[in-house]
Amino acid sequence: MFFIIGIHFFVWGQERAAQAMHCTNCGIVAPFLVRKGRQFITLFFIIPILPISGVKHILQCPNCRTRFQGA
Ligand SMILES: [Zn+2]
Repeated sequence: MFFIIGIHFFVWGQERAAQAMHCTNCGIVAPFLVRKGRQFITLFFIIPILPISGVKHILQCPNCRTRFQGA
């Protein structure tokens, strides 16, 4: 039996931030998407089996989709 173990960063959630922010990548000023992400050890690339980081808050630009890591 052969298992493929990997690491993947899963992102979920999609809320609009209350305030508009400036994207340093594309220059737009807009309400960003607030998402959550967590790094997992995965089996066969898609099955999360063990979290290896805390939950991180991510701000994503609605225009160019660049992700910025929040506090
Ligand atoms: Zn952008």
